[in-house]
Formats: sequence, structure tokens, C-alpha cells
Amino acid sequence: MARESLYREDRRSFTLSGVPGADDERPIDLHVHTTASDGTLSPSECVDMAAHNAIAAIGITDHDTVDGNAEALARGAEVGVEVVPAVEIAAAHEHWTLHILGYYPEPGDTGLADLLACLRSGRDERNPQILARLAELDRPISDEDLAAESDTGVLGRSHIAAAMVRRGYVRNHQDAFDRYLGRGAAAYVERGKPTAADGIAALLAAKAVPVLAHPGMLGIYDAKSLDAVVAPLVEMGLGGIEAYYHAHTPSQTAMCQRVADKHGILITGGSDFHGAGKPDIKMGTGRGRMHVPYRLLTRLKQARQRV
Ligand code: AMP
Ligand code: ZN
Ligand code: FE
Ligand code: FE
Repeated sequence: MARESLYREDRRSFTLSGVPGADDERPIDLHVHTTASDGTLSPSECVDMAAHNAIAAIGITDHDTVDGNAEALARGAEVGVEVVPAVEIAAAHEHWTLHILGYYPEPGDTGLADLLACLRSGRDERNPQILARLAELDRPISDEDLAAESDTGVLGRSHIAAAMVRRGYVRNHQDAFDRYLGRGAAAYVERGKPTAADGIAALLAAKAVPVLAHPGMLGIYDAKSLDAVVAPLVEMGLGGIEAYYHAHTPSQTAMCQRVADKHGILITGGSDFHGAGKPDIKMGTGRGRMHVPYRLLTRLKQARQRV
């Protein structure tokens, strides 16, 4: 496919540019959530944390909204952190729910804005259904309790989890997901989402580079299974795979790299930092060992110019 060869060309031009210098090893983190969705730090606070931790660049990947990007870009320009505007969407593909990151969407793209509005209305339909299930389970959370968890964010399960912690129903966020909110748990409710084909098409139309987020979270541990998921997505225009991730083992990262190489697409990486809701995940280093080198962002920017 034409698009695949574009990414190949990109990789070759990188290789020709020579051995990566020390500069290319500066840490970046291309997966960060802010208070625009379910993170607990504002976009500016995320940028300040990146500056403090000497992270060269961060990607703002809020769920279903691009609202945090402008503030982060402005703050980044002030404090010398490169900000990569982005978004994270959920999409249905076969029996999977995939998360797809989109890097550098054109601000104000109306097609993408429509898709994000649809995703948010899917949440607005789901949240009351989850609260109704919780009430049946004798763990009532009111609409006011939920609304009190965020003034600015796209409300979702993380906010419901926070309200449950506050009420003392669960020990912590993870406990809320394990017992009530995670897929297959007692109060889990599906939400409406686009197909992967539609999600990828909307991202490409907005000139964003679509990247499959955290394949390890799908429970995929071998390259053959990953390839089976990725190959049709590449046909749809997928541009990369998130290889570095807080929950990926080194062998999962290597597996992502192999499958990306096979298809001539990029790899990216990020922590999925959410702030206080997931306190064990640190910006830049994930659970402590993650190191995403700057050169991956160089390639991502080259790919963006060809979308
Ligand atoms: P939502 O967008 O409402 O579907 O919620 C997505 C958020 O829930 C993301 O921040 C995920 O990291 C978090 N999440 C989803 N499943 C789990 C899980 N099993 N354990 C912990 N967090 C989860
Ligand atoms: Zn989240
Ligand atoms: Fe995700
Ligand atoms: Fe995320």
C-alpha cells in the first residue's frame, strides 16, 4: 500500500542520517493524561513535571479530547519542553477494544471533532448505567459525587473509581477496577465506539499519525498474535505501535519493534501517566525502567509530514 511505503522511506532517511547521537537518547514520554480527561495534573502541571524531570518532550494523549493540547503547548514554549499534541481514542476491531493514539492532529479538524464528540456521548450514556449497576450492588455513587471528581475532564471510569475510593467502597483505584469497573467485572458496561477503520481514517483525515497503544494491555505476548492484529490495521493506515510502555516487558517491547519493522511502520513509547490516580506510574520512567529515546519522536515528526 502507498501509505506503508511512505513510512518505509521515512525509516531509510533516518538510517542514512547516521548513527544516533547522545542527543537522540534524551528521554521523552509520548503518553500522558491531564485533567482534560482522567489525569490529576493540569496540562501546565504535566509540562512543569516534565521540565523538572528533564524529559525532553511529552505527548498529551487525553481520552476523547484535544482540549488540553493548547495549554500544554503554550506552557511548553515557556519552560522549554517540547509538547506533542495528541489524543487517545477507543475503537472496536474484531473482538478487541483497541486504544489508538493520534499524534499531531490538525487543531480544529471538524471530522475528528465529530468523532471525539461521539465518543464523549458514548461515555455520557455509559456513566449512568455504571452508577445504576453500582447502586444495585449497594455501592451507590450519585451524579453529584461523580461530577465532583473533575471540573474539566471527560468523565469516565477513572473518576468513578476515585469517587468509590472517597466513599471507602474500595482500597484504591486498582481495587475499583478489579472488583467493579474493569472489563468483565460486576459493574462493567460497554460504551459505543467507532470501528478501528473509522477511527484511523478520522485521525488520518486530521493529519494525525495513528499509533496502536499498549498492545501488551490486550494480553498479547507473541509476535504472531500481534501481527494478526496489526496487519489489517496497517492496511487501514496505522502508522506505528507503542512499543515502550510502563507494563511492557523488554520482550514485549522487542516484539512490537519486530512487528513494526515487518510492516515498515514506526514505534513510539510512553508511560500512560495519570498522576495521583495511578501513583506507581511515573512520567518518563513508567514503573522505573522505561526509557523512550528522542529519536523515535524525530521519526514520528518525519512521518507526520507525509500523512
Ligand atoms: P474509560 O475511558 O472510562 O473507559 O476508562 C479508561 C481508563 O481506565 C484508563 O485510564 C485506563 O487506564 C483505566 N483502566 C481501564 N481498565 C483498567 C484496569 N483493568 N485496571 C486499571 N485501570 C484501568
Ligand atoms: Zn486514562
Ligand atoms: Fe489506553
Ligand atoms: Fe492512556
